[in-house]
Amino acid sequence: MWTAIILSAVSMTLIVAARYAATSGLFAAITGRVKPGYHAKLGPQIRREIGWSLASAAIYGIPAGVVAWGWQERGWTQIYTGWNDYPLWHLALAPLLYLFAHDTWFYWTHRWMHEPRLFRIAHAVHHASRPPTAWAAMSFHPWEALTGAIVIPLLVFVIPIHVAMLGVVLLVMTVMGVTNHMGWEMFPRRLVHSRLGGWLITASHHQRHHEEYKCNYGLYFRFWDRLCGTDRGLSERI
Ligand SMILES: [Zn+2]
Ligand SMILES: [Zn+2]
Repeated sequence: MWTAIILSAVSMTLIVAARYAATSGLFAAITGRVKPGYHAKLGPQIRREIGWSLASAAIYGIPAGVVAWGWQERGWTQIYTGWNDYPLWHLALAPLLYLFAHDTWFYWTHRWMHEPRLFRIAHAVHHASRPPTAWAAMSFHPWEALTGAIVIPLLVFVIPIHVAMLGVVLLVMTVMGVTNHMGWEMFPRRLVHSRLGGWLITASHHQRHHEEYKCNYGLYFRFWDRLCGTDRGLSERI
């Protein structure tokens, strides 16, 4: 049993690391085309971003691997595979609930980590990326990585979700985590400045967090920032 659990944790770590390398590598390459010279002189910073991100891959991979083992072998979690197990509307609702729950957890833990004492211990690593790059997506101190790593493995015990929709959540999480740090906006201006865009977080919003620190704490949605008066709008530099 223990061998299987360890094997699952190791495989999940390798999957998370490969997912990071592929996604950050892809968007870093696109950044090289869209903003030539953006990465110039950032070599040492990018190496640090990759190092912290690979450490985070293990911190994310271990709980995910243990839960994946429990799902397969012990029937843990509320992840289901049959398309007819729940009504169709549930397929669409579950990923939104996951994203909202993750966003809520992220907003409050992130805001908390901006308290000066905690900032130095847990969050300074992430803000050492100035300006952030696509490689900074998982560049977290292990304490901060731990706060992020437990969210999805806990949510799967609470909110039922189809395994394919869980894949969608992980895809959104990965792509937005990378693109929000790459230093340019990939979504059309029309969307970013639309009414819907006013509730969504993309690179222009998160960039401002990296510029000014004490604002724009959210992850996917601007709901909490707007509600709590911490939303300062979009970066004017990208
Ligand atoms: Zn960031
Ligand atoms: Zn921060």
